[in-house]
Amino acid sequence: MRLYSTNDSSNIVELKEAVLKSLASDKGLYMPLEMPKLPDHFLNNLAHFTFPEIAFQVSKHLFGTTLSNFDLWEICERAINFPAPVKHLEDKLSTLELFHGPSLAFKDFGARYMAQLMSYFTKDDDKQLTILVATSGDTGGAVAAGFYNTPGIEVIILYPSGRVSHLQEQQLTTLGGNIHACEVEGSFDDCQAMVKAAFIDQDLNKMYNLSSANSINIARLIPQSFYYFEAYKQLAHHDNVVFCVPSGNFGNLTAGLMAKKMGLPVQEFIAATNLNKVVPDYLSTGQYEPMQSVATISNAMDVGAPSNFVRLSKLFRGNLDEIRNNLKGYYFDDQQTRAEIKTLYDTYKYIADPHGAVGFLAAKAYLKTHVDSHVCVLETAHPSKFIDTVEAVLSNKVVIPERLASLQHKTKDAARIENTFSSFKNYLLER
Ligand SMILES: *Cc1c(COP(=O)(O)O)cnc(C)c1O
Repeated sequence: MRLYSTNDSSNIVELKEAVLKSLASDKGLYMPLEMPKLPDHFLNNLAHFTFPEIAFQVSKHLFGTTLSNFDLWEICERAINFPAPVKHLEDKLSTLELFHGPSLAFKDFGARYMAQLMSYFTKDDDKQLTILVATSGDTGGAVAAGFYNTPGIEVIILYPSGRVSHLQEQQLTTLGGNIHACEVEGSFDDCQAMVKAAFIDQDLNKMYNLSSANSINIARLIPQSFYYFEAYKQLAHHDNVVFCVPSGNFGNLTAGLMAKKMGLPVQEFIAATNLNKVVPDYLSTGQYEPMQSVATISNAMDVGAPSNFVRLSKLFRGNLDEIRNNLKGYYFDDQQTRAEIKTLYDTYKYIADPHGAVGFLAAKAYLKTHVDSHVCVLETAHPSKFIDTVEAVLSNKVVIPERLASLQHKTKDAARIENTFSSFKNYLLER
């Protein structure tokens, strides 16, 4: 499989390089050079494929002969090992629950698949791969769970002391095995600066084979297209299916558009955002103007300069009309989001998280002018991840699923590190 850089379409690499490097040498993002339609016998018979089988078929179609069928099946079977069920709320409205993985958010799909692909591509290396990640909370949990027990790879996670929630910290610090946590006496930005400094440090590069589990890695994007096929399979009896995607960096939405390029007969997509509304503004004005992010209760979408916008745009060669034909944008504020959490519970007894609630608002706004469509909202996280916000709106208690609740009482194991690069470097040299 060949991929090009969004900064220079003549900068072409093979899948292995794209996965192990994340970012192109010209700082562009990698995109598949070709994304042909899947064969009709697959698209018309989705019901005959299990979710991991769908993952295999889509991967195989993109990767060609890069991996053997045997290796690729193993990767898909290990990575896509939890369900993505569609729940029907009413005739025109459903939700695709993407939170049934270990860290209760859709990022589990990307993290697990990336872990498997990285492990495959480094299996013949003598030295193990050491992945450095800085996290403000959420991504770290998905990466930790995704790479846990992956052969040939260890993960070192830096997080800002006292600035992540207790359950987030437990996700980072209690797995053990190949997952190591560093509690940094500083901010998320400090953690990120330390990771950057480590990548260019000569001593560390002599000792370690360093890599990153960057959110812009193409290996995180590709598996996010699988669940659109899986959802469509469950929605097959509906006409005019539209997916509504609560968006921040627009990886999830870009993956949906890729599924459509590969032949999934989706009518179109809805980009749902909070007040970080750069993309809805772009769709209405034609001007793309990144801004400073603003803080909201759907904080995983607080992105003022979406990293995947360039990929989204490239899918349509930057043609605004074509983008508008495939994508509608809506945005909402926190007050509307809180009210929607309550309305959803009162109407359907459905407990949504704040990100999903933004999606439902957009879906309902869209349905007012598109009465013949069926909108499926991607529920990107389990409501218990945002338990304080949700419980403040509803009078119910939100139940934390056992796979997360069970971490609560496990023993934390983290190295404490001062807010200096030398402190991090010493830790790495002496461990
Ligand atoms: C990361 C995240 C999003 C945003 O997804 P993008 O792919 O960055 O657009 C939405 N909701 C939740 C819960 C997330 O964790």
